[in-house]
Amino acid sequence: MAWERNVVLKSPAELEIMREAGRINASALAAVRAAIQPGVTTAELDAIAEAVIRQAGGKPAFLGYPGPTPYPATLNTCINEEMVHGIPGERKLKEGDLVSIDCGTIFQGFVADSAFSIGVGQVSPEVQRLLEVTEESLRLGIAQMRSGNRVGDVSAAVQRYVESHGYHVPREYTGHGVGRKMHEGPQVPNYGIPGQGMVLRPGLTIALEPMVLVGTPHTRVLADKWTVASVDGSLTAHFEHTVAVTDGDPLILTLP
Ligand code: MG
Ligand code: MG
Repeated sequence: MAWERNVVLKSPAELEIMREAGRINASALAAVRAAIQPGVTTAELDAIAEAVIRQAGGKPAFLGYPGPTPYPATLNTCINEEMVHGIPGERKLKEGDLVSIDCGTIFQGFVADSAFSIGVGQVSPEVQRLLEVTEESLRLGIAQMRSGNRVGDVSAAVQRYVESHGYHVPREYTGHGVGRKMHEGPQVPNYGIPGQGMVLRPGLTIALEPMVLVGTPHTRVLADKWTVASVDGSLTAHFEHTVAVTDGDPLILTLP
């Protein structure tokens, strides 16, 4: 795996910068969260996030990101069956929707990357359960991010929990190392085998991002060439934190 050659351990000073990037990113996500309600457009949410990031001296990490076309926005906004990489626009959120918001911030040359999903207004018990399972799978994965453990321990913790609830994880989209570049090594899938993969070391910074699908593990890319959705139209959710491996407990860099 080519990504394994692209692993960069960060110094304590670099981790401090990444923590600040993570704080700014968390502020942007908190402002977006507070604005989520029926009737708001995803473009309006995008403008809120960009303003918070720029006012804090950061830059949106996704804006201009290379792809089929340079990525045009600060956020990825995904509704219901959309899983990741949704482009904000004029679509209005509706009562009962499940919306996923992914945001990246560059501060002093380092990237922080984090996402959450949330129900809009009153949601069905199915949406609520999917949200809870996905968020808990992130927590369980992070708990495995300890020096000496392996990438497979993290991946397996996510997969085991998600699949024990009858849900699925995609194979084509994964977590990743993050630092001066948004995507560094190692690749951290949401599926794996305990005891396999790269050994985790202090200074490693990983964006762990469980994506969970209700129907099948399979996805498709929509006509805008960016948005990834479940192939069967079933609901999906996505949570992500940027986390540093330390000598002790994992350090979540993208908390407020
Ligand atoms: Mg992200
Ligand atoms: Mg990411």
